Amino acid sequence: MVTKKTIKKEYYICDSCGFVYKDKETAQKCEDWCNEHHSCNIEITKNAIDLNE
Ligand SMILES: [Zn+2]
Repeated sequence: MVTKKTIKKEYYICDSCGFVYKDKETAQKCEDWCNEHHSCNIEITKNAIDLNE
């Protein structure tokens, strides 16, 4: 039997849209974009990760 294990790591979340990123730089880019454009940039959000995966 195999066990699925979730390893707790640190993630960075854009406070504007809630997307989660592995690296701070991308999260910051997303937040800057969100705050400026009030929408998401698909080029940035495609790097977001799904924590429920
Ligand atoms: Zn964002």
